[in-house]
Amino acid sequence: MKTSIATVSISGTLQEKLAAISAAGFDGVEIFENDFLTFDGSPREVGRLVREAGLEITLFQPFRDFEGMPEPQRTRTFDRAERKFDIMQELGTDLMLVCSNVSPLSLGGIDRAADDFRELGERAARRALRVGYEALAWGRHISDHRDAWEIVRRADHPNIGLILDSFHTLTRGIDVNSIRAIPGDRIFIVQLADAPKIDMDVLYLSRHFRNMPGEGDLPVVDFMRAVAATGYDGPLSLEIFNDQFRGGSPGLISVDGKRSLVYLMDEVRRREPQIAMSVPAMPARSRAGGVAFVEFSANAAEARDLAALFRTLGFRASARHVSKDVTLFSQGDIRIVLNTEREGLAHSSFLVHGTSAYAMALRVDDAGAAFERAKALGAEPFEQEVGPGELVIPAIRGVGGGLVYLIDDRTELGRLWEIDFMPLPAADAPQDAGLTRIDHVAQTMQGDEMLSWLLFYAAIFEVSKTPLLDIADPAGLVRSQALESPDGALRITFNGAENHKTLAGHFIAESFGSGIQHLAFATDDIFATAAALRANGFAALQIPRNYYDDIEARFGLDPELADRLREENILYDREGDGEYFQFYSPNYGEGFFFEVVERRNGYRGFGAPNAPFRIAALKRHLRPKGMPRK
Ligand code: MG
Ligand code: MG
Repeated sequence: MKTSIATVSISGTLQEKLAAISAAGFDGVEIFENDFLTFDGSPREVGRLVREAGLEITLFQPFRDFEGMPEPQRTRTFDRAERKFDIMQELGTDLMLVCSNVSPLSLGGIDRAADDFRELGERAARRALRVGYEALAWGRHISDHRDAWEIVRRADHPNIGLILDSFHTLTRGIDVNSIRAIPGDRIFIVQLADAPKIDMDVLYLSRHFRNMPGEGDLPVVDFMRAVAATGYDGPLSLEIFNDQFRGGSPGLISVDGKRSLVYLMDEVRRREPQIAMSVPAMPARSRAGGVAFVEFSANAAEARDLAALFRTLGFRASARHVSKDVTLFSQGDIRIVLNTEREGLAHSSFLVHGTSAYAMALRVDDAGAAFERAKALGAEPFEQEVGPGELVIPAIRGVGGGLVYLIDDRTELGRLWEIDFMPLPAADAPQDAGLTRIDHVAQTMQGDEMLSWLLFYAAIFEVSKTPLLDIADPAGLVRSQALESPDGALRITFNGAENHKTLAGHFIAESFGSGIQHLAFATDDIFATAAALRANGFAALQIPRNYYDDIEARFGLDPELADRLREENILYDREGDGEYFQFYSPNYGEGFFFEVVERRNGYRGFGAPNAPFRIAALKRHLRPKGMPRK
């Protein structure tokens, strides 16, 4: 599998882009004419830089408004093509992209276009160059790859071939199986892009919102399965126009791009096992059985505060690490680890982010296989020193630098708490509050990094995306999306902050980076849990009375139920028969908090309609600017 990416997909100077693309493991780049506008050097210089970065130029583009022109424009387009051929030879690339004509002057006609391409093929052949033809979704006469293929077929010239682009085919809803009838050797290059399902003009969508395969909602896997069936084995080239990517980190976006192609081709290989493909083998996506534990890093003073808070939530300190300053708190199937070590990643994470949930462990069927897959997808492995006899837990760094441990039951990892920990006496335990498991983990990041996080988890684990939601914070918009495993055992929500005045943005700014912002615990009886927590001295986040007047009317709630909800500061949501009950802790530190939820009758959401009330209430509890940490 050869991989390529258009340099216009990422930000930076040409040198920065090439360095990032090369580091991410791509084989080549598409060079756009625009690259010359921002680069103070000749095409020859550009070609040299590309080769010095260990890359090749897979394609030069775009050449517009070529086929089917009347005279005198027709003669001029051929002159224009010769000048592009000059540039290509200086660059050191042999393939040019011609996209279908959008000019109102163009005449149309399949044979007229085929004649033009035959002549262009002759001219290209004299210089040992090739030309590929791509149907733009908004082309004037040609907007469908089937018609573009018919033109290429009738041009009948070895230097003229077809270019397929998943975006143009899929946004027009063209049957991808029509690709299976095209000979693979007549496809000169395949361009890939995904896009979100947004109802907007396709040209605008294409220029601003394309994203990496797997990040959007288009069936790119089905498209690639059809391409693979043709026998095509040339470069897969990402052509992504996205405003956020063009303003984001070139390193991160390049890594995402490579990850998206490796993930895509693994999916294709699994679904088309009878087709031979040069795709690296790796274990399948891991079934995610939920969060095995969450680990906090803190200093001794803050650890005491946190331990007191855990206690009011009904957790008991149940075990102590055999060699480290690490305590396990547990309740039901929930495990929280509090790490106050003065060295290692926990400590460096504390120094950077303050007290934070810097790591989580995911339960999988086979931790070794999950670790292998993650590495194949470009995840950074993490190793930490362990004492004699202690377990080495496979771990990878998440997108924001946090840690993801992988735990299974098939190896000794399943006996982690017996091997690495010593039980603590149960005396003096707080009242158990009926919390059963971690319902979801909420991660907060910069808005432009959210797609990177989603792709990271979705490529490694068996999870699917829920629709993207806009959450209104009084200070701006927060975009929210969730991943969940088919059985709901693992749910992770992602909140992308667009500015620092939102609660999510405050959290990122004050904790110096993205991370876990809240943990939601499940209960089977939220009223019993609320009462138990109150008895432990827990004070729930106060929700204003007008919220309850609103939901009583909105859902037609029994006034008695509305009163009980109000007394316990429980928020309520309903979807069909499904019901959701949730209450929150106040902020701890810089915007971190806990949530308690009860789901009834298969409710699948996260109480999004309640988010503005929750955000406003939490913001009232944020410490005033300039106040010391407590
Ligand atoms: Mg294209
Ligand atoms: Mg939540």
